[in-house]
Amino acid sequence: MTDTGHYGFATRAIHAGQDPDPTTGSVIVPIHATSTYAQDGVGGLRNGFEYSRTGNPTRAALEECLAALEGGRHGRAFSSGMGATDTALRAMCRPGDHIIIPNDAYGGTFRLIDKVFSQWGIEHTPVALSDVDAVRAAVRPNTKVIWIETPTNPLLNVADIALLAQVAHSAGARFVVDNTFASPYIQNPLELGADVVLHSTTKYVGGHSDVVGGALITSDDELDAQFGFLQNGAGAVPGPFDAWLTLRGIKTLEVRMEKHSDNAEKVTEALLRHPKVSHVYYPGLPDHPGHEIAAKQMRRFGGMVSFLVKGGEEEALRVCSRTKLFTLAESLGGVESLIEHPGRMTHASTAGSLLQVPADLVRVSVGIESADDLVADLTAALD
Ligand SMILES: *Cc1c(COP(=O)(O)O)cnc(C)c1O
Repeated sequence: MTDTGHYGFATRAIHAGQDPDPTTGSVIVPIHATSTYAQDGVGGLRNGFEYSRTGNPTRAALEECLAALEGGRHGRAFSSGMGATDTALRAMCRPGDHIIIPNDAYGGTFRLIDKVFSQWGIEHTPVALSDVDAVRAAVRPNTKVIWIETPTNPLLNVADIALLAQVAHSAGARFVVDNTFASPYIQNPLELGADVVLHSTTKYVGGHSDVVGGALITSDDELDAQFGFLQNGAGAVPGPFDAWLTLRGIKTLEVRMEKHSDNAEKVTEALLRHPKVSHVYYPGLPDHPGHEIAAKQMRRFGGMVSFLVKGGEEEALRVCSRTKLFTLAESLGGVESLIEHPGRMTHASTAGSLLQVPADLVRVSVGIESADDLVADLTAALD
């Protein structure tokens, strides 16, 4: 495969792992819908492929591209973000180990660690990642992993990746960054000291709300070998069509993230001006508590915006029911704009816990439609 390491981001997105097909000249990587591969004599693999759980050429193209986008040596694709999360944790933790996680972790990540890994003797401590002293204080002799997300969901808290990498490594722990909310265009945690980057490629990487997938990227050969062992051994692999759809989405990641960020900035400005909005959460705002760190480690500020509506839950629910372009739905990161009420939808399970989100909170995933239309739609719903 062509070495694309020296190219810019958009060039890598379009070419890494995606040389024209050597047998047909097909410019686009084919969907290799096959479970097995003919061998030239026993053990005579033609291109290293023997069975599609172990490896598939469409998936291999996606994996090479994902690694190139994060600046890592190895990429592994999975059937979902949770499949990638499960694989990463099983590669790095054994019974008796301890993990530090964000106190506002993605709900599925928290559920897996709290409900499944705890049964296998793996302990965890949720911590506010913006408080580095609290993270240091949570470290135990058996802490094997510090797992972070930045920005977080739905309050868009920002964690200092480089600083937390140091904390993890001085504790002898591995440092994992779930980079789903930023995407590899906006933020590259491996360059800042992370050992592993995780993506739910369902979101910005795929970008079109048409496929569920996950990825792990690392430059650590030994860790990647373990990820590969579990990818094959446990089998949470994407099919070739899923890999192809994701690869197709990736080609436009740079232009999409630029437009998501432009539109989110315009939506943020309009929300700040609206008399019914009492607070706006966006890392691009100078008064956001994580703004300085975000400006240091993010190329743009992304497409996710949350805000508080005056009048409490009732008014927040009213806004969610009145938009026409912003579709009422969970998930994020697609070209189309979405709106949701975290308290009743994505974060309903946090009710009554320390992680409970405000009842007057609304979250939007700002799409790449015309900005004026998005601003008009939200403003009309608020009026
Ligand atoms: C969606 C999401 C996941 C889980 O990914 P799936 O593809 O839905 O399994 C993990 N982390 C974050 C931050 C997410 O938004």
